[in-house]
Amino acid sequence: MKEFDLIKRFFAEQPVRRKDVHLGIGDDCALVSAGEQHHIAVTTDTLVAGVHFFEDADPRAIGHKSLAVSLSDLAAMGAEPSWISLAISMPSIDEHWVRAFCTGVFELSEYYNVQLIGGDTTAGPLSITVTAQGLLPANKALSRGGAVNGDWLYVTGELGDAALALQFLKGNADVAREDQEALLEKLHYPKPRVLAGQILKEYASAAIDLSDGLLGDLGHICQASQLGANVVLDDLPISNALSANVGAEQAREFALAGGDDYELLFTVSQDNKVGMETALSNAGVKYTCIGQLNKSMKITTTLDSHPVPINAKGFEHFSEASE
Ligand code: ADP
Ligand code: MG
Repeated sequence: MKEFDLIKRFFAEQPVRRKDVHLGIGDDCALVSAGEQHHIAVTTDTLVAGVHFFEDADPRAIGHKSLAVSLSDLAAMGAEPSWISLAISMPSIDEHWVRAFCTGVFELSEYYNVQLIGGDTTAGPLSITVTAQGLLPANKALSRGGAVNGDWLYVTGELGDAALALQFLKGNADVAREDQEALLEKLHYPKPRVLAGQILKEYASAAIDLSDGLLGDLGHICQASQLGANVVLDDLPISNALSANVGAEQAREFALAGGDDYELLFTVSQDNKVGMETALSNAGVKYTCIGQLNKSMKITTTLDSHPVPINAKGFEHFSEASE
């Protein structure tokens, strides 16, 4: 059994159904009522030493990323980040480590005006859990399930850089000296697409943030929307740093299946295409159209207008690939 089967089989089965829960388990955030006019989006993410980051990683980067991954889930719903809670377990108290960790958390929380309102501190293996909450006008949230047949598929930013940086750190890939810093920055200091999410809630039909790789996360949009999709591999946004250090096929594989991009993957109707592109351009957000939704219920890829088989997939905890 893998991560998502486990969630569906055990945690999604529960005796309670409340009227003030508008969206429960299954999306980037849950949505609950906050008065007549607003919803609150809520998300929780855990980072574990040795799984999500190297035990000896820079604590400032660990702090940044712990918050960034949750803000990315808020962004995927179009929510405005407001409050966080922080649960941390660590083997012993190292004041220098905690100070640097807090610097990473608070640099980002200050930027987004997000307040730390509580948490929990325990002794144990190094593990960090952040719950983030954000406000939204009622019924304006983006979800994974809103895509319509024929909608265009877009992604913000560039894909695959963090995956190459991880392989470089593991000693599995070479990176030219001049590209190392920028690529490692993408892995250690991901920038959640909060502004893009708030703009997209006015235009997009569905959205998800890319934490586990494009193919896997696109699969969640397709499943929730009961659709398929074709991805045009020629159009995947790949950075100069990525294409300078690996071959074209390897770059596409990192872009399709590498995790930790924290870009937004979203769908837009033909009618909203121009409005969305104008709004994102005005805000200085890079975006790329990479395909289209269809009724096939499958994900396919084409290269140079020819179908090509998919031999990469996204990350899932408890799957063979993650062991
Ligand atoms: P994301 O990658 O966006 O953080 P996940 O893939 O981790 O989302 O989780 C998918 C969905 O399952 C989310 O709605 C999440 O809240 C829910 N979920 C995950 N683990 C649990 C759990 N133990 N109990 C209840 N819901 C869970
Ligand atoms: Mg997510």
